[in-house]
Amino acid sequence: MKKKDIILLLVLLAIVGASFLAYWWMSGEVGEYGQVVVSMEGETFGTYSLYKNQTIVIPGRLGDNVLKIEDGYAKMESAGCPDQVCVNHTAIHNKNEMIICLPNEIIVEVTEGEQSKTDAIAQ
Ligand SMILES: [Zn+2]
Repeated sequence: MKKKDIILLLVLLAIVGASFLAYWWMSGEVGEYGQVVVSMEGETFGTYSLYKNQTIVIPGRLGDNVLKIEDGYAKMESAGCPDQVCVNHTAIHNKNEMIICLPNEIIVEVTEGEQSKTDAIAQ
């Protein structure tokens, strides 16, 4: 193998690696500290672990929205909104995925969480 070929190969590997990282960063799995952030009418309603099975009742102005977190997936179980778009949304799991309930102004978003950063500082 010629030196030029090796450099070309390394460049190709770097490009593949960078795009993989970019994909992982943009839409990858959030890992064990993944969180579900619920906001209502522009304000944070609550932050919940994506890996703790729980049911959250969000008191929207048109009726309660019930968010279910199970096995790393968050899904709108039922909603007080007339269009039910949020209920028909598939379960979210990856970073930056969202379920939006427009009539109730409720946004449910998956984020990476803060725990890993706290750990890094502690060490
Ligand atoms: Zn809705």
